[in-house]
Amino acid sequence: MKEEKLPTGLVQVYTGNGKGKTSAAFGLALRAIGRGLKVYIIQFIKGGFDYGELYAIKELPNLKLEAFGHGRFITEKPPREDDIKSAKEALDLAREVIKKGEFDIVILDEINVALTLELVKIQEVVDLVKEKPEHVEMVLTGRNAPKEIVEVADLVTEMREIKHPFKKGIPPRRGIEY
Ligand code: ATP
Ligand code: MG
Repeated sequence: MKEEKLPTGLVQVYTGNGKGKTSAAFGLALRAIGRGLKVYIIQFIKGGFDYGELYAIKELPNLKLEAFGHGRFITEKPPREDDIKSAKEALDLAREVIKKGEFDIVILDEINVALTLELVKIQEVVDLVKEKPEHVEMVLTGRNAPKEIVEVADLVTEMREIKHPFKKGIPPRRGIEY
């Protein structure tokens, strides 16, 4: 496949309480690798959970994924030290990958949740957005995107829940929700 580069990399945010944020990011990744772009997906908080995409990406070229976290839902505020540590590791990797500029699209999945839980400082992410190489596209997902993140983004989509099967007692389905 011919290697391509984006002339201008933008900053996209998929937020809101409705389903589809992570799926949208993976859909974008699929389109991008079809055009020879290189995509790096870094997942905050999700490490240790079993998602279908972890198996699918093994089959795809130019797509890397690394998940951080401990396989449990975080609710505590202030957060636990080990959760802060793995979010920091995820952000350090994001910084390294973005600054190197070797990957055309860097997806920071659930980073908005890490920001809301105060695992990562908003200013650190704002700085990263401002310092990114011109050609690198960043995609930030997760509900409750902080206003500072929305401000520095070029594209913001809010998935708004109108209906979700969970509400009528249908549990998460393998292959659809995970
Ligand atoms: P998906 O990963 O399916 O694209 P998402 O990224 O928009 O969804 P998250 O907020 O990351 O959703 O939610 C994590 C998990 O909860 C996912 O498995 C998702 O399908 C599910 N989920 C999303 N929205 C809701 C909702 N309104 N109620 C219950 N579960 C939800
Ligand atoms: Mg998600």
